Amino acid sequence: MAAAEVYDIDCLVIGAGAVGLACAVALARRGREVLVVEATGVIGSGTSSRNSEVIHAGIYYPTGSLRHRLCVAGRRKLYAYLAKRGVAHRKCGKLIVATSAAEETQIAALHQRASQNEVESMALLTAAEALALEPNVNCVSALLSAETGIVDSHGYMLALRGELEDLGGMIALNAPVSGGRALPSGGFEIEIGGASPARVRCNAIVNSAGLSARAVARTIEGLDDAHIPELVLAKGSYFGCSGRAAFTRLIYPAPVEGGLGVHLTLDLTGRMRFGPDVEWLASNDPAQVDYRVDTARSQSFYAAIRRYWAALPDGALAPDYSGCRPKLSGLGQPAADFRIDGPETHGITGLVNLFGIESPGLTASLAIGEHAVDLIERG
Ligand SMILES: Cc1cc2nc3c(=O)[nH]c(=O)nc-3n(C[C@H](O)[C@H](O)[C@H](O)COP(=O)(O)OP(=O)(O)OC[C@H]3O[C@@H](n4cnc5c(N)ncnc54)[C@H](O)[C@@H]3O)c2cc1C
Repeated sequence: MAAAEVYDIDCLVIGAGAVGLACAVALARRGREVLVVEATGVIGSGTSSRNSEVIHAGIYYPTGSLRHRLCVAGRRKLYAYLAKRGVAHRKCGKLIVATSAAEETQIAALHQRASQNEVESMALLTAAEALALEPNVNCVSALLSAETGIVDSHGYMLALRGELEDLGGMIALNAPVSGGRALPSGGFEIEIGGASPARVRCNAIVNSAGLSARAVARTIEGLDDAHIPELVLAKGSYFGCSGRAAFTRLIYPAPVEGGLGVHLTLDLTGRMRFGPDVEWLASNDPAQVDYRVDTARSQSFYAAIRRYWAALPDGALAPDYSGCRPKLSGLGQPAADFRIDGPETHGITGLVNLFGIESPGLTASLAIGEHAVDLIERG
């Protein structure tokens, strides 16, 4: 963008992660003109490239919550989209394993929740049935989810980008939003900073800035602070595991506070990795997040993994990467739902803020996009 340029566009999406791109595609499919502005020089460099790449079935979330509804709907849309667009993925299934009587009660409750959430293809297995599927697993019983899968998240985002551009949408990289205002006459004026400052006038905005969605919302004059939630950041680290994969399905323990427990995921080449754990951060400034993986955390990983994979060899784990969850609830509080705030919530026509889009945001992204556009069009 040239300095001091002013652009008029119908819809502006802030952030080119999986969710922002899916929102942009949803807008473009409805015939809206869309510009995505991304602070960095590439798409998908935020949380969308720092996650487990798991297509979640929709088991864990309170029935009727956005996380439940958008995960189940998003997962169904996502499998169809990946197949149609030729994006690498595999419906490999997963086992949630119980290794104690208390965890058996937990997975029985998850089974019931999954049925209330209308998640397909779930089954409670005895230890013998689980061992027949996964000979290396250690458990007293397990919950099988056949709908769970893995996806090449970058391939998915490239497919979204391709579809968006085919529909006439545009993406501006190195284009950080630095401020803006809701105009009294309707619409918005948004400032783009960086090396090529510009101003964008638009009718609608989807704020999909991930960890920075709160900071972006705070710069929009006219949006009452009461509609901007506090954010807590929780880092999750991963360790890779050398050697041949010992499992063909994903293996999850019973969930823990703040996350799903240190689980085994496989990438599409079959490589094993474990994580993410939950490390609550003192600062909620995304710029302060140190994504390096602390080797010392491996001790707690060995202990957690050996509960369900006793044969994990010493020295097999190596620090891999980490991600950071934008949480709307802190330690000791019940897990919060996604917040997708449209005009009905904050009173500003054309504005949708996406807050707390942690897991299963990747799975849910296509459904989040549809939902966000519904809010814009309804408002
Ligand atoms: C450890 C971890 C594991 C997870 N595992 C899974 C999983 O297995 N399955 C699943 O479904 N979900 C998972 N998730 C959740 C999923 O990764 C996220 O919900 C999803 O990637 C969020 O996408 P996004 O587009 O909202 O955010 P992001 O990918 O973070 O994108 C936001 C974008 O906004 C840009 N931005 C920020 N500020 C500005 C600004 N001022 N101007 C312009 N652009 C800006 C950023 O540069 C970034 O590119 C996991 C999350 C974490 C942290």
